[in-house]
Amino acid sequence: MAANRKLLILPGDGIGPEVMGEVKRVLDWMDSHRAITFDVDEDLVGGCAYDAHGAPLSDATMNKALAADAVLLGAVGGPTWEKLPFASQPERGLLRLRKDMELFANLRPAIVFDALAEASTLKTDLVAGLDILIIRELTGGVYFGEPRGITTLPNGERRGVNTQVYDTHEIVRIGRVAFELARKRSGRVCSVEKANVMESGVLWREEMTKLGAAEYPDVKLSHMYADNCAMQLVRAPKQFDVIVTDNLFGDLLSDCAAMLTGSLGMLPSASLGAADATGRRKALYEPVHGSAPDIAGTNKANPLATILSAAMMLRYSFDLADDADLLEQAVRDVLDAGYRTADIMQEGKILISCSDMGEIVVEAMTRRTT
Ligand code: NAD
Repeated sequence: MAANRKLLILPGDGIGPEVMGEVKRVLDWMDSHRAITFDVDEDLVGGCAYDAHGAPLSDATMNKALAADAVLLGAVGGPTWEKLPFASQPERGLLRLRKDMELFANLRPAIVFDALAEASTLKTDLVAGLDILIIRELTGGVYFGEPRGITTLPNGERRGVNTQVYDTHEIVRIGRVAFELARKRSGRVCSVEKANVMESGVLWREEMTKLGAAEYPDVKLSHMYADNCAMQLVRAPKQFDVIVTDNLFGDLLSDCAAMLTGSLGMLPSASLGAADATGRRKALYEPVHGSAPDIAGTNKANPLATILSAAMMLRYSFDLADDADLLEQAVRDVLDAGYRTADIMQEGKILISCSDMGEIVVEAMTRRTT
């Protein structure tokens, strides 16, 4: 089918190429068993790009990313490049991708697979079967607001200033993402801010309410203060479905929710831009974890976070919900059968390598479709 699904793969540094190798195995399987063809290009980002081109992301690679329907990234960074000047650091490549692709919506699912529920620091029954989605506004708010900086006051004291600022269009566009994704899930959105103490929170709440009533009356909208949301996430996380919040609160709450799941090696993410006239959004999919230099090159990495990021890509960029479901179900099967990479190893389970995990996921997909 459509050779127009343009996919740019950027494996990056450290374990990036190892985990991405297993995603390529999955995509090859999709190509031969599901007739889902991607027009795949592969390039460099991070430290490896600096070594090759003297920059963590070349202009040519950036242009490929802008032209792609989706970008799938492994991880960047490592001790080799730590001493480089700020502008050449591997992470700058990733930040440039996010900025130039104008990715304003960060999607962080927190899914607890039944087989791994015991690995959570919370009681098993609180998290077993958890499936929530945190949508964080990524390009506005206090991390970018002006004025900002450190100044010295006439009395010799120093003052640090950051500004929390949101305009209507920024709230509305992230709100639309949340409402639309909620429609594909259980139809509930919880909007989170601090309207009790911040004007930006008052505006956020008013705009979300207006948008919900005008365009998404079928979606149930609730509101919660960010501090209460943090408490509720560790008290009763299953009460949520989609949470939408600003850049700062989203940073904190998505990490908090991530830890409910127990392992960095299991966490996918997506970052989306605005929809164009055809409804296509620029999109970057990547695992939450870094390049794990301590285990790079040992075939010990857990590829599931990256494989689950690819499942998000199938769902959100290519509308292939059945294939995303199949891939996620295959991951569930593999975990239920007791296979574990070292990071999620439990007593009595079967320890396997990164490449074995990819192979077994593909076998599980074959079993489910024959
Ligand atoms: P990290 O996520 O790379 O590793 C933290 C710990 O988790 C390590 O012990 C590592 O072995 C383990 N781990 C991470 N992913 C794993 C996986 N898939 N399977 C098994 N174990 C896994 O974080 P760090 O050590 O703080 O950073 C290492 C490098 O990665 C740094 O250069 C950092 O800047 C970079 N980094 C990159 C990204 C990114 O590319 N998005 C994110 C975070 C950190």
